[in-house]
Amino acid sequence: MRRWGWILATFLLAVSAMGQESAQPAAPPAAPPAVQPVSTTPGLAVTPQTTQRTPVSIDQVVDQIIEREHALMAFLKNRTPLVETYLQNLTPDAKLGAVPREDHYFLGRLDMGDIVDRRDYLTKQMSFQQNLMGGVTKLFRIQYQPMGFSWMVFADRQNFDRSHYDFHYVHREFLGEVRCLVFEVIPKKNAGTGLFHGQIWVEDQDYNIVRLNGTYEPRPRNAFYFHMDSWRLNLVPGYWIPSYIYSEEGDFSYGSKDKEAFKAQSRIWGYDVMRNSRDDELTDLKVEAVKDESAVAQDLSPLEAQRAWQQQAEDNVVERLQKAALIAPAGDVDKVLQTVVNNIQITNDVDLPRPVHARVMVTYPLETFSVGNTIIISRGLLDTLPDEASLAAVLSHELAHIVLGHNLGSKFAFNDRMLFSDESTYQNFGFRHNPEEETAADAKAVELLKNSPYAQKLGSAGLYLKQLQARGPVLSALLTAHLGNGFADNKGQIIRLSALMGSAPQLDESKLDQIAALPLGGRIKLDPWQDHVEMIKAAAVSYTSIRDKMPFEVTPFFPRLTRLGSNATTAVNGPAADANAGK
Ligand SMILES: [Zn+2]
Repeated sequence: MRRWGWILATFLLAVSAMGQESAQPAAPPAAPPAVQPVSTTPGLAVTPQTTQRTPVSIDQVVDQIIEREHALMAFLKNRTPLVETYLQNLTPDAKLGAVPREDHYFLGRLDMGDIVDRRDYLTKQMSFQQNLMGGVTKLFRIQYQPMGFSWMVFADRQNFDRSHYDFHYVHREFLGEVRCLVFEVIPKKNAGTGLFHGQIWVEDQDYNIVRLNGTYEPRPRNAFYFHMDSWRLNLVPGYWIPSYIYSEEGDFSYGSKDKEAFKAQSRIWGYDVMRNSRDDELTDLKVEAVKDESAVAQDLSPLEAQRAWQQQAEDNVVERLQKAALIAPAGDVDKVLQTVVNNIQITNDVDLPRPVHARVMVTYPLETFSVGNTIIISRGLLDTLPDEASLAAVLSHELAHIVLGHNLGSKFAFNDRMLFSDESTYQNFGFRHNPEEETAADAKAVELLKNSPYAQKLGSAGLYLKQLQARGPVLSALLTAHLGNGFADNKGQIIRLSALMGSAPQLDESKLDQIAALPLGGRIKLDPWQDHVEMIKAAAVSYTSIRDKMPFEVTPFFPRLTRLGSNATTAVNGPAADANAGK
């Protein structure tokens, strides 16, 4: 126990220093180094409420970590967030390093009160777990234990206690602006199979786990466990909510025996979907907002009635998609998108009876569609577009559908057509156009773009499509649109706005300064609790090798952790939007 005593001394100093910091809010917080050296500040009194919770020994800290982990499980047990996994199998490439060979996509609901996930958005028959393993089984021939996805959400759902694990304090470290204690967690001998082995980061106020990194062992016969890096965000007072998981297996470094490798991102969101029910809306209802605001009170003409009917259908669908947590609540990103649409409209003198709106679908697959006058664009697409001109090109196709009157379907004005389970959204909704309308929309889009402020910058849009074409055949999951028309046919050939490719520069993946498309995750940040999206504010990073470009690829997560309510800037040191993009 002598070793513990020494660690305890430094630990208590850390707590004291912390108390001192929070007692002086006027001092501007300096940028914390990645690893904080052990404080030499003499012990000072801590604030009263911290005193109550401050454990006096490492043992007590561990007790509190375990208690907080079980409290989190209890807190989330009635929640059924969405979980989305996008996985890329890799193959070695002499020039580009490991590149995607094929991809898989899974979207489902995670029942936090259960061990196994059952409900899936994409197919009714298979559970998310079977789907996940179905995709990976081909690779590793895995027969998966019935633990479901939740094994990567919590350290250990059933056995997270001292009788199954040893906890060793490692050091202190900042994750973002949150000071953490790092512990190594090791399963005890003969404590069972599939136990967590790795590191946990716990924040130093209440000792909630904020990050888990490791794998599970020993593996039972015929089972395989991934390595994972799992992050939580402080979205609710007192709780850190599982939000991102990065998994990776295999590598192709010299001498490695791995023949297969993959990397995968999982995102969890939609925790608070229950709260977005209509009951809440009723209590929030502002009468002003629904008042008839026309200058002169009058009856509707037949055409006006038709438009009001279409508006009702549009509102119904958008509201339903938001309730299913598939599109984010209206917010600032929408305004950026609407500005781009506006720029195209104004320069083309497009005058529509109803304004065009834009919303963000929060999923990976690259797709756009429009519902009435609302354009919906997926997060994956926003992430990978290199600049505003390419965004304008993508939006112009949907604006063209609106201008050409292709979105007049109003069957969703009947409210009974909104009555289906969230999981069956993709079976009940579809906003695809026939090939004739697609061709007409593309032609109109090019015409709109030529008269727009983006007319001279369309090379980047064409280059993006060329890059998509180059990678398309191995990214069929990313290219599969679920509600709208896809960018490519089923062989990965680009069919959307293909005219723009003709005037684009030649795609050259070995050219360092040619950034045709960005990695996934570089632009849009999603709040997993309330589903709000915002733009990532990442510092520009310059590329040093063509392997840095990673178009359409997934990368590890590195969210900048902050405590709820701290109003520090929310810079993200994540997969960064690139400096070279947009030139
Ligand atoms: Zn279309």
